[in-house]
Formats: sequence, C-alpha cells, structure tokens
Amino acid sequence: MLALSLAACSGEGAGSGGNTSEKKPGDLTIGVSMPTQTSERWIADGNAVKQKLEAKGYKVDLQYAGDDIPTQSQQVDQMITQGADVLVIAAIDGTALSGQLQAAADAKIPVISYDRLIRGSKNVDFYVSFDNYKVGVAQATGLLVGLGLQNQDGSKGTATGPFNIELFAGSLDDNNTQYFFGGAMDTLKPFIEAGTLKVKSRQTTIEQVAILRWQQETAQKRMEDLLTSSYNDGSQVDGVLSPYDGISRGIITALQNAGYGGSGKKKLPAVTGQDAEIASIKLINDGVQTCTVFKDTRLLADQAVNAAEAFLQDKQPQANDTQTYNNGVKVVPSYLLPFVTVYKDNIKTALIDSGYWTAEEVAAGQ
Ligand code: BGC
Repeated sequence: MLALSLAACSGEGAGSGGNTSEKKPGDLTIGVSMPTQTSERWIADGNAVKQKLEAKGYKVDLQYAGDDIPTQSQQVDQMITQGADVLVIAAIDGTALSGQLQAAADAKIPVISYDRLIRGSKNVDFYVSFDNYKVGVAQATGLLVGLGLQNQDGSKGTATGPFNIELFAGSLDDNNTQYFFGGAMDTLKPFIEAGTLKVKSRQTTIEQVAILRWQQETAQKRMEDLLTSSYNDGSQVDGVLSPYDGISRGIITALQNAGYGGSGKKKLPAVTGQDAEIASIKLINDGVQTCTVFKDTRLLADQAVNAAEAFLQDKQPQANDTQTYNNGVKVVPSYLLPFVTVYKDNIKTALIDSGYWTAEEVAAGQ
C-alpha cells in the first residue's frame, strides 16, 4: 500500500515516476530548472536545493536558463529525456512550458513549481512559495512607512503629504508580478484616492509600469524617462514602489544621477524592494533604500526538497494552502512560507542573526 500511485492520490494526470519508492536515492535524479544567474537569489535557491537533495543521496541536474525562454524549454526537455524522476521549476515565463509539462506528465514525472507558479497547465503537482499578494501589501506598507504616513507597527505616522510617487512592477510573464502589484495597489489606493499620494506621471496600470525580466537597466531607463517627462518642473519624487532590489538599484542610480541624495536639496525618495540582496542591504544600512522583503530561500529550498522527496516516495507533499493559487486550470496545492520586511533597524535580527548575511557582508555590500 505504500506505493500508492500519485494519480490515485491526486486525481490528476501526473504519476509517481513508476515505483520510485523502491529505488535507492542514488538511482533517482531531480531536475532543477532555475531562471537566471543575474540575480543572486536564484543562485542561492539553486545551490540550496541541490545541496539539500545531494545530502540525502539524490542526484541533481541543476540548470540555469539565462532568462531565455527557449533555453529553459530545452533544458527541461533534456531533463525529461534523460530520465529525471521529479522536476523542480522556477519558470521565466509562467505560461511557456505547457509542452514540457505534458511530456513530464506522460512520463509520470511530478512537477514542483518553485516560487513562480506555472500557469495554464493541469500538470503542475505542487507549488512552494510565499503569499505573494501579502508581499505586495508589505512593499506598499514599506513605502508608507518610508514616507512617514505609517509606522512599522501599522499605526498612523506623523506625515500628512501630499507626496509624489512612482510605481514599478516586475515582469508581466511572471505570475508573481500581478500578485505583488495587486497587493501593493490595494494598499496604496485609499491614499491615492484621498490625494495624499499622487502618481505624477499618471502611469498606474501594470502594463505601464512593468519591467520586462525584472532588469535593473530597464528600470533605470524608465526612472530616467519619468524624471524627464514628469519632474522637469522643479517638483520632486518622494517615493517609489519597487518590487525587487535589482529594480530598486536601477531606480536609485537614475535618481542619484539626477542629483537626488547629493549635497543639493533633493532628498532621495523612499524606495522599497524585495529579496534582501546584499547590495541593497548595504543601501538600506546606509539609509539610501528604505526596505526590502526578505524571503528566506533556505526555507523555500527545504520545502522544495520535502515535496520532491514525498513524490519520490510515492506520497503527496504536505500542503498548507489549497485555495490561493489557481493557475487558470486548477488550484495547485501549495506550501507558503512567511517573510519579513527588513528596514535598517532589523537588519541584524532578520538577516545577520539568522546567518543569511554576515555583518561584514552588510558593511561591504557584497
Ligand atoms: C520572485 C522574487 C524576485 C523576482 C525577480 C519573482 O518571481 O518571487 O523574489 O525578486 O522574481 O527575480
């Protein structure tokens, strides 16, 4: 009875990879497909998943796709033909892998969607991530705190505004983007409607503010364009909603190049972020960036490993959420982890004490 087939457990297409529970860990391979190495979080995720699986004796095929969709499709295809027993995938484009997922299901290979939900396919067996809507709420809250409209404990701040703000969102093909932006906009909307916050450029739709592939340079260029188009009348930007630290650094560079934060009178605006990248933690420590959302990749890797191991033992991974993440075809059972907003005053408790970064790394920014 131990070797219950997955199809019987889940009622869905994917299977158990065929009696993997009877094989030794050393005979089993987990294909791990990560989007890019340009952002340090994905390197940390990939390494953590690999190390944790290898420590349990499994073989791991870890690939990075250089943010190129055809490369990722090809890498996943290859993992399937080479006989992977489970796939762990952080997709570049959440809708681009349907063919691969069908091939995986046909070969009875369970698929774990890693942090970015794969959409439009029934062949996604599990999802490990965070509550991404709440991440967006946290980012908007960080902006309100940075502007002094709110305190970190949620109470009303002493500032009254009005403030000029600009909005940035992530890559539109990443399923998380709409959750981050949705959570943020629901939080900012009452302030915008009351006139306390003004999006001076009037660019408020997700299509207008999205940054393809989350690229720092694209964000810098957009901020430069915004400064030219909307702030050449002597007005100043007071706050910028940014969904990711790389984007935040692009925004900050554009602002600094335009004279913000220098000896002149233009104070750098409040700028949010995500991922606790070391360069941004230094900026937060130095009072340049306001905050970041820290999602512990070590804990996420643990959940991916737990889920992979459950599938390899012909069991269902344990979900803690079976309602939130509908990928357009089905609600994907999920394990969602908590996260922390990091400001200057909790860098030590959130990041240094937990061993994520050392005090030396924070001081050096690398
Ligand atoms: C992740 C974020 C990350 C972003 C850019 C998103 O899918 O959830 O943590 O900042 O991708 O890599």
